[in-house]
Amino acid sequence: MKISKCCNRNDQQALNVLKKHTKGLTAYSLLSELQKIRNIKPMTVYRSLNSLQKMGVVHKSNQSKTYFVCNGNGKDKHNPAVAVCKKCEKTEELNPNIFSKLFNNIKTKEKYNFSNFEIEISTICQKCN
Ligand SMILES: [Zn+2]
Ligand SMILES: [Zn+2]
Repeated sequence: MKISKCCNRNDQQALNVLKKHTKGLTAYSLLSELQKIRNIKPMTVYRSLNSLQKMGVVHKSNQSKTYFVCNGNGKDKHNPAVAVCKKCEKTEELNPNIFSKLFNNIKTKEKYNFSNFEIEISTICQKCN
């Protein structure tokens, strides 16, 4: 799972395409971008997205269904926190440390493990406001 072990050719290619689209891409648009380069199967793209996500190099927004490259390029793996515009679906990664600190102070019945989380904040960007 180490970054040094990262990336078979498929993963690397998917990552390169995602890097060009800072706004993020859906799995489907990533697939069609990759298919411009070579013939690639949807399963291969999904597998790459999965492993890139696990490595922390890529995050996913569940709201806009887009994948985008981590701000930190996965150098230090962290829990993703992103803001997503409800109108244009622009995403921006937020500093997750603020949330980690906040979560340490939350008391829950089920004793959730907040050292592991994903946050997505639905909001409106400046342009759409
Ligand atoms: Zn990140
Ligand atoms: Zn917007």
